[in-house]
Amino acid sequence: MPNLDELFAQVDAQRNEIVALEQELVKIPSVNTGFMPTGNETPVCEYIRDWLAQDGIESEILEATPNRGNIISSIPGTSGETGLLFMSHTDVVPVEEEDKWTYPPFSATIANDRIYGRGASDCKGLLTAQLYAMRLLKRNGIQLKDTLGFVSGADEEHGGRYGFGWLAEHHPEKLKAPFAVNEGGGTPIDSPSGLTYILGVGEKGRLQVEIEIKGTSAHASVPWQGTNAMYRLSQVLRRIEDYEPERDTSTSLFDYLSSFAIEHKPSASNVDEIISEIEPENPRFASMMRALSRMTLTPTMIQGGIKSNSVPETINLTCDVRTLPHQSEDYLREQLDEIVKDIPGVSYQIDYMAVPNSSDFRTDLSRSIQESTAKALGRNDIQWVPAISTGFTDSRFTRPLGTVTYGFSGTHPDDDPMLSHIHGTDESVGISSLISGTKIMMALAIDLLT
Ligand SMILES: [Zn+2]
Repeated sequence: MPNLDELFAQVDAQRNEIVALEQELVKIPSVNTGFMPTGNETPVCEYIRDWLAQDGIESEILEATPNRGNIISSIPGTSGETGLLFMSHTDVVPVEEEDKWTYPPFSATIANDRIYGRGASDCKGLLTAQLYAMRLLKRNGIQLKDTLGFVSGADEEHGGRYGFGWLAEHHPEKLKAPFAVNEGGGTPIDSPSGLTYILGVGEKGRLQVEIEIKGTSAHASVPWQGTNAMYRLSQVLRRIEDYEPERDTSTSLFDYLSSFAIEHKPSASNVDEIISEIEPENPRFASMMRALSRMTLTPTMIQGGIKSNSVPETINLTCDVRTLPHQSEDYLREQLDEIVKDIPGVSYQIDYMAVPNSSDFRTDLSRSIQESTAKALGRNDIQWVPAISTGFTDSRFTRPLGTVTYGFSGTHPDDDPMLSHIHGTDESVGISSLISGTKIMMALAIDLLT
């Protein structure tokens, strides 16, 4: 069996083929608008199935509904147990203003050592790295003890109802593994002491709060005959603006701040001070610390009034809420009750969009990701910080199944994450990240499964 350095050399030698795979995946427009019929993930699955079959790797496509395929594959190990799961998704978000793109969004054009296209980074880059790692493991006849699983799901960008959400409910056995690697982390970040990687260990919860504010209508020429819901709304908005969410430093990120030259141990009472100290030097990291030290409650949409000459009777205010992993719906309810207290005519309703979730940072998978990254990049000076992301991914479906799931895509340190423009115009991925990602995924599988 070739050693790891020989395998890394093969990855470098296969650069053009890796780039070509990424290009082919980006060229299939698997756009998910959220409104059926949409997604078109099955053609991506079929492409992957045929591509894997070239090396005799078998796969199956499962559809919750026609054309919204999920592809499941594996490289079997001798034990028959899955030891590691490669996760990704095949759908992409829509293109908003195509004429603003430098290259057509599904052309997968190569420029500046990058591949441009919708989905190039989210998530077809990670998908490419995982697939190519599987090809090289298979071609080199590397005997695995435990099975390497692979699942690329549909519908991630609209909640996963036809993808991992559906698989977790109807085929949980296909997702059964102690460890999984998914998108949602693995970006390099500047720190005073050198290269630091963010490992995605969890996600904030997302809830939507609909606040209904009632008054009584009247003709606008005699407004004193009614109660204008607009004025009550202004009270509600003022309270939300003045709301100071409780500070919290219990997420694991706050235990690993030494590489950021933060001297004091962060606590609820000093975290704001620490954030303002590091903000001028490192605004991205400061913003992340802010998001991970509190719940956010943000008014985002408003609807109300029926006529320009009527005192409005009902106003609906929509708020976006992001909770920390241990903050429950009851906790949010307590906070909201306090916010709307004594304002007459106000009621609210809470909808869960995604539950908060997290995996422990001290695991064998975390150790292996750190070692594999060090080997693949040939450096031993990398520092690691576990982080809870403010967005959410399909990891929230596998963590409750007991699978330790990390967001880690193996971005190359020279590939500036600001250039990837995920969900934006000119989305792209650095070719260096496809190469480093492939090496890391392969090293990970060898470390954990042989
Ligand atoms: Zn994604």
